[in-house]
Amino acid sequence: MKSLLLKPGRERSVLMRHPWVFSGAIAQLQGQPEPGETVAVRAPQGGFLAYAAYSPTSKIAARIWSWDENETIGPEFLHRRLTEAVELRKSIIPAGETNAMRLVHGESDGLPGLVVDRYADALVVQFLSVGVERWRDVLLEQLMELSGVRQIYERSDVDVRVMEGLPAREGSLVGAGSPAPVVIEENGLAFLVDPLRGQKTGFYIDQRRNRQCMGSMSAGRDVLNCFCYTGAFSVYALAGGARSVLSIDSSGEAIAAARENVARNKLDGANVQWMEADVFQALRAFRDEVQEGAVGKRFDLIVLDPPKFAQTAAQAERAARGYKDINLLAFKLLRPGGLLFTFSCSGGISDELFQKIVMGAALDARVDAKIIEHLHQGADHPVALAFPEGAYLKGLVCYVK
Ligand code: SAH
Repeated sequence: MKSLLLKPGRERSVLMRHPWVFSGAIAQLQGQPEPGETVAVRAPQGGFLAYAAYSPTSKIAARIWSWDENETIGPEFLHRRLTEAVELRKSIIPAGETNAMRLVHGESDGLPGLVVDRYADALVVQFLSVGVERWRDVLLEQLMELSGVRQIYERSDVDVRVMEGLPAREGSLVGAGSPAPVVIEENGLAFLVDPLRGQKTGFYIDQRRNRQCMGSMSAGRDVLNCFCYTGAFSVYALAGGARSVLSIDSSGEAIAAARENVARNKLDGANVQWMEADVFQALRAFRDEVQEGAVGKRFDLIVLDPPKFAQTAAQAERAARGYKDINLLAFKLLRPGGLLFTFSCSGGISDELFQKIVMGAALDARVDAKIIEHLHQGADHPVALAFPEGAYLKGLVCYVK
């Protein structure tokens, strides 16, 4: 078998079960592996460490499939890993909580680069590494069999594919007819998800339990939902008895879908307002009103769930300024006793850094705030202990005195 020989000292992270081998760690390539081909990762003296998928164009030159020398990387192995992933969700997500969930979360499910989201009877897959791309037909067939779905869509239209030397791909893979939006159910609420035209794979399923937490604290409050997308937090707030909900997003299409989601759940639309606007500008305008002493818009609960500001750790500084800005403005717009639900889905921003940014924002806004909840991505987005990079979503609920 073709092999990657590591430089002295670079076997450490592999021994600690981290699934990535960076190109800078490789001393020598033995044989000429094709993109995605299985190679043996070897210590400088040649001892076996792991089997991995080779990626010639990426800085992550190999993604580890298995540390077991007796393993054969092939259909039977993939089937076992997929089964484990599906069984895990079955065992931890109570029936009735949702029919939309992440079935496979890449590295943390032992399938580096594979993301599979289930929306009712449809799956949306992302092949984000050459390793899983090489096995795509086998994986698709096994996913059909294991999940019993009728349709599979692909949304491999993301930047990481480029680093892997792969073209963007999206469309319908399996199933008859033209791809159609799907209605999903989450905690008794219904949402329309468009797997092909929506953002990410269509819906932010990673926020499910955080939305539930927010809904449970919404009663009687004037709520501001920033970066509302298709209105999921807005719907939970209304279902939770919010007095009013104002939702902001820069996408008119998302807002149109959000309005429909409110109607779909037969919630009273009388105290619901939508703004197609830039959140930074809208919050500044609200702050100016408050500062001028006019009655001004103030709120009892604000959600900040922005898109990823930092794709990489290198962009963290610019991202940090963005987070600071919106959190500072939000703190200024909260009434005493108000709650801030603030999130970051940037992998490059750690929990600790995020908390510092929010602390700085509270200081500058001159509010006395305390954390009442630490929130993360849902349980269907597990994080392998050896792979902290798998934890990307962090949130804080702050209570303002
Ligand atoms: N909270 C949502 C997901 C938010 S995704 C949910 O639970 O479903 C981020 C959203 O921010 C996207 O809908 C995107 O259109 C919007 N967005 C990005 N930049 C923005 C900006 N500067 N102002 C307003 N909305 C923005």
